[in-house]
Amino acid sequence: MRLQPPLLIICYAILSFLQPFLLLVLAQTNPSVTPINWDLYHSSDDLVEQIHSLVHRHPDKLSIETFKSGNKGYNAEVNVVTYCRGGRQSDDRSNFRILLTFGQHGRELITSELAFRILSILSEEQFLPNINGGATLNNTLLDKLVIKLVPIENFNGRKRVEAGDLCERRNGRGVDLNRNWGVDWGKKEKDYDPYEENPGTAPFSEPETQIMRKLALSFDPHIWINVHSGMEALFMPYDHKNTTPEGLPSQKMRSLLEKVDKLHCQNRCMIGSGGGSVGYLAHGTATDYIYDVVRTPMAFTFEIYGDNQTSSRDCFKMFNPVDLPTFKTLLNDWSAAFFTIFKLGPFHLDQNSTKAAEKWVSIDEYLDGYLVERKNRYGKNMEVIDVGMQEIKTYFRLFLLSSVLLMFMFCSRIAKSKYGRNSIPVVMQ
Ligand SMILES: [Zn+2]
Repeated sequence: MRLQPPLLIICYAILSFLQPFLLLVLAQTNPSVTPINWDLYHSSDDLVEQIHSLVHRHPDKLSIETFKSGNKGYNAEVNVVTYCRGGRQSDDRSNFRILLTFGQHGRELITSELAFRILSILSEEQFLPNINGGATLNNTLLDKLVIKLVPIENFNGRKRVEAGDLCERRNGRGVDLNRNWGVDWGKKEKDYDPYEENPGTAPFSEPETQIMRKLALSFDPHIWINVHSGMEALFMPYDHKNTTPEGLPSQKMRSLLEKVDKLHCQNRCMIGSGGGSVGYLAHGTATDYIYDVVRTPMAFTFEIYGDNQTSSRDCFKMFNPVDLPTFKTLLNDWSAAFFTIFKLGPFHLDQNSTKAAEKWVSIDEYLDGYLVERKNRYGKNMEVIDVGMQEIKTYFRLFLLSSVLLMFMFCSRIAKSKYGRNSIPVVMQ
């Protein structure tokens, strides 16, 4: 047995000393992420099946349609549930019409659970919790309502999330369905990230958006709500600029949101224009199109939950409650919030007034946009100090890895040269 040269022993000793640090670095580079809690959440297939069964148990109140569309080998389908009591025709223009969409972003599973809860309450299989007086709707009110509800707008994207791509928000071919609409489409901000916000090849390039546009234009709702998660907020137009529309329509929207915030969000929810309040502008969004082009007088984007303490890579936990008490409370609070809107919406909006909304710009809102805390567009607080610490950690990891690599190369080189020197006498003999 040949003796190790002393230098090699030192090298191995150093490498052994560094081994725990190396493992730690590798562990931090790929931290564990929270998996989907299947005890709390339905799979998309199960949810669709449950909703079909619910509708079939209540033909006097609920009906369901499936719309299909596709192009360039990509196909999508969208289920739309209609709530309309007494089997009346949903195209009766005297009704007060509400259009709700959930699950536009794949990773926001909780929104579709809320859709199912709202449908269960509308069918009277479940009941509103008696919180904050509850918004009990009497038959006279319910008779005037027609609600169309899309439980999972982005079914293909949701499938990708269920297959393990927990941070996916885009559709089945990588387009953000909330950037694919026609108002201010395709404009990119400085911090544009195609992984998150790819707007597609053209406005309405995506089958899902085409279906939603058709639905909105034909149904012509009085209220539109696009339900998301990632933070707690009640947004009104606009997303693509730092302002809200001015005048009475805007006041009515804001006043309804303030009531919902007070009753169901304990005044925690951020209220204002999407573009002004969240700290970044979003172009080609559904709500801006529904307000500007479909001319829906009350067009909102709700953000119902967000865990901004968690790592932005831990997407299931960031966008969805992971424990039963939070899950239950959230569904109770937000289903109650929607029933408050079903109750107050018609009173806040004079049905006889024209649906054309006034679109003046308020300089106050413009300035307000600069005074709120800036968040990055994925819902995570990105304060300067956090960014600095993250970069220092990354550089430290790189430094440690490169040191180990250099040490390894150095040791191999010594080993080689020693072996080389030893080998010469062998050959010579
Ligand atoms: Zn979203």
